[in-house]
Amino acid sequence: MKPKKFVLIAVDGGAASGKSTTSRAVAERFHLLHVDTGIHYRALTLLFLNWRRKYVGENPIADFLGQIKIETSLSGQSALVKINGSVPDDEDLRSPEVNAMVSHLAAMPNLRELLKGYQRGLTEFARENGFAGLIMEGRDIGTVIFPDADFKFFLQADEKTRAKRRADEGFQDSIAKRDKIDSNRKTAPLACADDAERIDNSNLTADEVVDKICAIIEG
Ligand code: C5P
Repeated sequence: MKPKKFVLIAVDGGAASGKSTTSRAVAERFHLLHVDTGIHYRALTLLFLNWRRKYVGENPIADFLGQIKIETSLSGQSALVKINGSVPDDEDLRSPEVNAMVSHLAAMPNLRELLKGYQRGLTEFARENGFAGLIMEGRDIGTVIFPDADFKFFLQADEKTRAKRRADEGFQDSIAKRDKIDSNRKTAPLACADDAERIDNSNLTADEVVDKICAIIEG
């Protein structure tokens, strides 16, 4: 089903709150471009960790960001980030080193500013590629990136459920620690927008969450 006008949907929530599974399925249902902004922060972190090994100056973050070129490529309905000409490997993006460092880099205002411009520009990319809209997931999409989104959802689940999800995926990840840093940073913290629909999915199946969101959008 295609919505009548270009539709913008923001999905926020903590780590392992079900954002990706849900957003991908909703994107498919309405022919939307799906954007996982977590991979933007992960990709910059991965590159920074490698780049820093050879760096000798005094402003590592500013100098690092100064030589970054961000582009987009498509994989099905999802947008992949391409940095300095290449799309980072998904397994590398989810390594324990990246998991441990990503929230610290994501707290840097200049890094967020760079990604804010890029992320907002993805509506144009979605239009150019014939999508009926855009569904973007992250931590600050409904509050900072697209405060005027047509629909906003905030997903949450209890800690036990979230830890089990990560363990089932086989990733080593301190989700509670990341959430704490993400919620307490000064710039664009993890937060539920006042006008977002809050969905606790601890006791819901993935399909039930998708159906609930699709019913709201169709309604
Ligand atoms: O979504 P994911 O768990 O892959 O995100 C990795 C990290 O990227 C988060 O813990 C957070 O520090 C950062 N992030 C962010 N803002 C977003 C998306 C992700 O700060 N919109």
